[in-house]
Amino acid sequence: MKLSWKTENTYKDLPSVLFSLVDADPIDKPRLVVFNHALADALGLTITLSDEELAQLCSGNLVDERWRPLAQAYAGHQFGGFGILGDGRALLLTEILDAQGQRFDLQLKGSGRTPYSRGGDGKAALGPMLREYLISEAMHALGIPTTRSLAVVQTNEKILREKPLPGAILARIAQSHIRVGTFQWITQTGDSELQRQFFHYTLQRHFPHLIATDNAAEHLLLEVIQRQATLVALWQSVGFVHGVMNTDNMVISGETIDYGPCAFLDQYHADAVFSSIDHQGRYAYKNQPNAALWNLTRFAETLLSLLDDNNDMATKKAEAALATFAPLYVTEYYRLMGRKIGIEDLQPEDHPLVDRLLGLMQTHQADYTNTFVALGRKETSESWFSSEDGSEWNSLWIQRISKEHDPYALMNRVNPQVIPRNHLVDEALTIAQQGDMTLFHELLEQLQHPFQDTPKKWQTPGDPTQRFVTYCGT
Ligand code: AMP
Ligand code: MG
Repeated sequence: MKLSWKTENTYKDLPSVLFSLVDADPIDKPRLVVFNHALADALGLTITLSDEELAQLCSGNLVDERWRPLAQAYAGHQFGGFGILGDGRALLLTEILDAQGQRFDLQLKGSGRTPYSRGGDGKAALGPMLREYLISEAMHALGIPTTRSLAVVQTNEKILREKPLPGAILARIAQSHIRVGTFQWITQTGDSELQRQFFHYTLQRHFPHLIATDNAAEHLLLEVIQRQATLVALWQSVGFVHGVMNTDNMVISGETIDYGPCAFLDQYHADAVFSSIDHQGRYAYKNQPNAALWNLTRFAETLLSLLDDNNDMATKKAEAALATFAPLYVTEYYRLMGRKIGIEDLQPEDHPLVDRLLGLMQTHQADYTNTFVALGRKETSESWFSSEDGSEWNSLWIQRISKEHDPYALMNRVNPQVIPRNHLVDEALTIAQQGDMTLFHELLEQLQHPFQDTPKKWQTPGDPTQRFVTYCGT
């Protein structure tokens, strides 16, 4: 099969301790469930292929002879505990160069066992792969850096979880899969030449402008910190709870990755946790900025010897870089939140206006997304805003936005009307697993245009008496 993609494989030229060459498991009768034509176009893949051929491609059955599928080695802190991990159920098929020469990984998730599978089966179930497809595409449409989903292919296999489930493979596109955990794995090997080589690979791939700088390691650290601070501020602003912010799930490129137990807030609560295994609330909504800083601290530790030959100096440089996270995050967070309430250039003296609104939402069990939509539409009269504390906030806010040029236009531009609501996602996936993709495609279409006016159906929160729980490792 001749593909119009321009591909190249630089990762396989790195030292072999960083990966294992693995052939994808042959898949019996793969069936294309969803394919992202817009993304394929953007990547320069001219679709002259039939659905059957795309299914062959996105299941790993057909591999271009120039590609060298590999599973990447990495380590990671999972809920604070360190372990050696690696792609246990994923394969990097190839790197793709788009028309602008930007490089992307094409990765399969759920493609079978690898040397890093440990006790796992290397497989994935249809529901969670469709879930990643929906939510990652929603994040992209919301303007949040993320890995993208190219396709989901259903396999002819049953995957054994609590019960047998239809098997699937997700084809995913990412700027790269270089994780904090990749650097941790390299540190673990104790090989300083490998460390230097991979550091240069990372610079070339994501930060070429830093190659010629003095102390590129310090600049790299600062830039990764800045990207993560911006990313987490964006998550907070849309009410996204990642759910499993382990260091192996934080990529250096600054994209959101690994949509396992993630979920969006419905009723606002700062302590919101959706993951069934996050008993301590380590990755609760309000803890995400701290979790990111914790991971970045682990990243900084892997760079110490590159930061300075002198240990103390290296530590000082790392600490100074890490100290930039909080102000960067706070500035970006309040800038985004300011825009959500119609204030273009929110000043520190306005912060209480944001904080109080969130406090009120929590007290009144208000829906996070719909509260901002209501403000933008001046639809506050028949809601909790007419309570004593609500109307007090409302008048302070009206007074404040009277100084703004066009606050309502701003709010309507930046506040999404549609998010992947847990009950809608669940419903779409339940039906999809029975073979009916209608609701999935309807929901996907809505999520791809989150700022447009839309029927109430897509904005309605789920039953607030039912706690929504997500599951990891699916
Ligand atoms: P995650 O929590 O999905 O980021 O995965 C954490 C680690 O577990 C990674 O090293 C995965 O490759 C591995 N893993 C997750 N699910 C499976 C599976 N079904 N089989 C093998 N490895 C898995
Ligand atoms: Mg992961």
